[in-house]
Amino acid sequence: MATSVAPKVFKNFIDGEWVESRGNTAFENRNPANTDECIGMFPSSTEEDVNSAVEAAAEAYKSWRLVPAPKRAEILYRAAEILVRRKEDLARDMTREMGKILAETRGDVQEAIDMTYFMAGEGRRLFGKTTPSELPNKFAMCVRMPKGVAGLITPWNFPMAIPSWKTMPALVTGNTVVIKPATDTPLSVYHMIQILTEAGLPRGVMNMVTGSGTSVGAPLMKHPQVALVSFTGSTGVGIQVSEACAPALRPCHLELGGKNIILVMDDANLDLAIDGCLWGGFGTSGQRCTASSRVAVHKKVYSEFVQKFTARVKTLKVGDGLDPATQMGPCVNQSQLETVMRYVEIGKNEGAHLAAGGNRLTDGAFAKGYFHEPTVFVDCNPKMRICQEEIFGPVVSVMPCEGLEDAVEIANGVKYGLSSSIYTRNVNHAFYAMRDLYTGIVYINAPTIGAETHLPFGGTKQTGNGHRESGDAALDFYSEWKTIYVDYSDKLQRAQID
Ligand code: NAD
Repeated sequence: MATSVAPKVFKNFIDGEWVESRGNTAFENRNPANTDECIGMFPSSTEEDVNSAVEAAAEAYKSWRLVPAPKRAEILYRAAEILVRRKEDLARDMTREMGKILAETRGDVQEAIDMTYFMAGEGRRLFGKTTPSELPNKFAMCVRMPKGVAGLITPWNFPMAIPSWKTMPALVTGNTVVIKPATDTPLSVYHMIQILTEAGLPRGVMNMVTGSGTSVGAPLMKHPQVALVSFTGSTGVGIQVSEACAPALRPCHLELGGKNIILVMDDANLDLAIDGCLWGGFGTSGQRCTASSRVAVHKKVYSEFVQKFTARVKTLKVGDGLDPATQMGPCVNQSQLETVMRYVEIGKNEGAHLAAGGNRLTDGAFAKGYFHEPTVFVDCNPKMRICQEEIFGPVVSVMPCEGLEDAVEIANGVKYGLSSSIYTRNVNHAFYAMRDLYTGIVYINAPTIGAETHLPFGGTKQTGNGHRESGDAALDFYSEWKTIYVDYSDKLQRAQID
C-alpha cells in the first residue's frame, strides 16, 4: 500500500527510555478510513523486549510501592490536566488510527481523563477498614497493598480509555506496569505514556512493548515476575490468558465479549428506544463490547418499530470519522470487515430478513477503507448465530417477543452477560428487569452503552471471570488485602478460645 509521507517510526518504552526492539522489525499502523495513510511504524517486539520491560518494572516497584499514595496521585492529577489540554489532538490521532468518529474519540479521551482524575482521588482514600477485635486490648485492621508488576493487554476499540482503566488503578495502588497495546492502536497508548512521563512518573514504573499477541502478549502473561494480568479482548483469547496464568496461580482479570440486548416493551417511548438502538447498535461501527447488537421488541409494537428503525438506519451517514458530518466510521481492519461480511451471509442463510444494509461500501472514497453499511436483520430467531455470537460490527438483529418474561428469557439466553437495557414506562417492569437480567450492567430507558468511570464495569458468564474494572471495584484487583492484628495486652490471647 502507498503512503504519501514517510511514516513516523515509534519505539518501545522501557525503563524510562524510548528503545528499539531487539527484533528489529516493525508493523504498520494504517488509517482504516484511508489505508493510504500510514500513521506510523511500531516495533514488532520479542520475548527479550518483554523480559527487559518486566525487569525494569520489577526494579522500579521496589521504590514506587513506598511512595505515599497521595504523592503517586499527584502525578496522576498532572497527567489528567495534560490529557485535558491535548484532548482534541489525541482524539484526532485516535480517529486516524482506528476510525471511530471524532465525537466518540473525544469521548474515549474524556473517559481516560475521568478515570485518571478518579484514581488520583483514590490516592487520598484507598480506604482500609478497622473493626473491633473480639479480644480486649487488641486492634484489628485491614489495608490495601500493591501486588507488584501488572501485565496489561488491551484491545483496539477503546484505545486510550481501556488502557487508562487498567493503568491508573494499577499505578495509584503502587504497582508498576508493562502494557501491550493492540496492534491496531499503539499510538494512543504511546501518547498516554508520554503524558504520564511528562507528569513526572519515575523511570521504570510504566513500560510499553508493542507487537503481536503471540510474540508479546503471551510471554508477558507467563512471565514469572508479573504478579497480575489484566486483559480485555475476545473470549477466545481470554480463555488462553486464564490458562496461561493458572499454573502459577497468577491473578488474571478478564473483560471479554458481549452480545448485548435492548428490550423494547409495548409501553416504551418508541422514538426514544429507536434513538437508543441507533446509538447503541452503530456507535463505533458496532465495535463495542457493550454494543446493542440484539433488539427484542414486544409483538404489539414490533411492525412499527421495524419500519421506523430501518428507515432511520438507512439515513446514517457513513464515512471518514474526521468529517463532522459522519455518523459511522469504518471497521477497524480487513479481518474485522471480513467477519462482518461473513456474518451477513450467515444471517441470510439462517433465514433472517435483511431489512437494511448488508454490503461492503467500495465506491469512491470508500474504496480506500474498510467501510460496511449499517445492517439490520429482522424477524430473527433468538437461537440464530447472528443472535448468539458476537459479530463486533455494524449489524443489529431484531426479534419479536411475547412480553416481559419472554424478553428477559431471550436476553439471558446467550453465553455472554455484559450489558442489557429495557425501554419501558412501567416502573414494575423496570424493576423486574433490573432484578432478572443477568448482566453486569443494566440500563433503563438508555442503550447498552455509556459506562461512567466511577461505577464498576464488567459482566457475567463468559464476559469475564468475576472481577470488575472501573470505580473503586477496580482497586480490589490491583491491590491485595492485608489483615493486621496488633495485640497490646502484653499476654497471650487466643482468638475463639479465650
Ligand atoms: P483480541 O482478543 O483479538 O485482542 C485483545 C488483545 O490481546 C490485543 O492486544 C491482542 O494483540 C492480544 N492478544 C491476541 N492474542 C493473544 C495471545 N494469544 N496471547 C496474549 N495476547 C493476545 O480482541 P480485539 O479484537 O482486540 O478486541 C475485540 C474484543 O474485545 C471483542 O470480543 C470485545 O467484546 C472485547 N472487548 C471487551 C471489553 C470489555 O470490557 N468486556 C471491552 C472492549 C473490547
